[in-house]
Amino acid sequence: GSTIGILGGGQLGRMMALSAREMGYRIAVLEPKADSPCGMVADEEVIASYDDTKGAAGLAASCDVLTYEFENITAETARYLEETMYLPQGSELLKISQDRLREKEELRSFDIPVAPYAAVYTLMDLKEAVEKITLPAVLKTTRGGYDGKGQYVLTEEEDIEKSWQELKGKGPFVLEQKINFDTEVSVIITRSVHGEVSIFPTAENIHRGGILHQTIVPARISNEAEQRAEMLARRFAESIGLVGTLAVEMFVTGDTVCVNEIAPRPHNSGHYTINACETSQFEQHIRALCGWPLGSVQLLKPAVMVNLLGEHVDAYLEHHRRLPPAHVHLYGKAEAKKGRKMGHITFLTDTPEELIKLIDESEIWKETQLTGGRK
Ligand code: ATP
Ligand code: MG
Ligand code: MG
Repeated sequence: GSTIGILGGGQLGRMMALSAREMGYRIAVLEPKADSPCGMVADEEVIASYDDTKGAAGLAASCDVLTYEFENITAETARYLEETMYLPQGSELLKISQDRLREKEELRSFDIPVAPYAAVYTLMDLKEAVEKITLPAVLKTTRGGYDGKGQYVLTEEEDIEKSWQELKGKGPFVLEQKINFDTEVSVIITRSVHGEVSIFPTAENIHRGGILHQTIVPARISNEAEQRAEMLARRFAESIGLVGTLAVEMFVTGDTVCVNEIAPRPHNSGHYTINACETSQFEQHIRALCGWPLGSVQLLKPAVMVNLLGEHVDAYLEHHRRLPPAHVHLYGKAEAKKGRKMGHITFLTDTPEELIKLIDESEIWKETQLTGGRK
């Protein structure tokens, strides 16, 4: 059979690999560390740095089609692979999503609303940006951030100096207005090599400390907001000629929607699709790349997905019987660090409100003693 090469060995790669396996593909993975979540389930593993073009070429040699599971593959490596091998997603979207400033400019060029923002290179720029954007605002590194890392929320004048002291040297930055949203949502959209498009049911996302905590589907937003969210995701996907699966994170305030950021791959907030939709975001991604017709994105039952971070796993194993049964997904990571995504669970339920209340009251997701990770 054909071999799919996955750049990146994390949990997203693992879940892609598991789907692709069911469809009869062989899996090869490129990852710098041994025993990665994806490496454990792959047929073949190339241990090399993501910016090592030779390592990437070694992977490519045994693969018929390539994909990536995270957006920080070096652009040069991606371009090399695009030119010499078959990377249907291309490298352009990587370049855009690796840089928040570029990403926002791109979104704006398609008339997609984003929070007011300004580029920040120096403390002087930051002071001027605060004048223009006004507080509260969020200072973010333009590159490399995830799970809320490399961000500082500024609420008062003093935070200008404080945020600069904490983040300086990690620039450039973007200062964004802090949006007083009602709800955060994400839209996961897939476009195949043949131009067929599917949009999964909009997901409502609840973050804690910058990390996704819960995803609730259907999202508790107005029909107008939902239609708008889908329309914006579709506009972006079609404007850039998307191939594969893409997540668009958005802020919803009343019926208005603005885009926070994009991720050019399956997304944590789409994990609910594995159990709650006819086709999962991972299967859809593989279908899109390999030229299959896309599957149905029908929601089979309302769903609540909850992440299991390092500090939650032991408590979950101890107390899960107090909750209704859930679909359990553990990623095989050895070390349970605080804030590290170790797994997730998905409840299918006709009474999501009751379940959300149980989760909120459960001891499992209370803070625990684990140290390290995000402060
Ligand atoms: P991810 O892991 O999703 O890639 P990230 O590190 O890129 O995360 P963001 O998505 O930019 O971070 O921000 C993390 C969270 O912080 C958001 O989901 C949202 O809850 C909050 N946040 C970020 N920017 C803003 C903003 N401009 N206004 C209000 N809240 C914000
Ligand atoms: Mg991000
Ligand atoms: Mg985000």
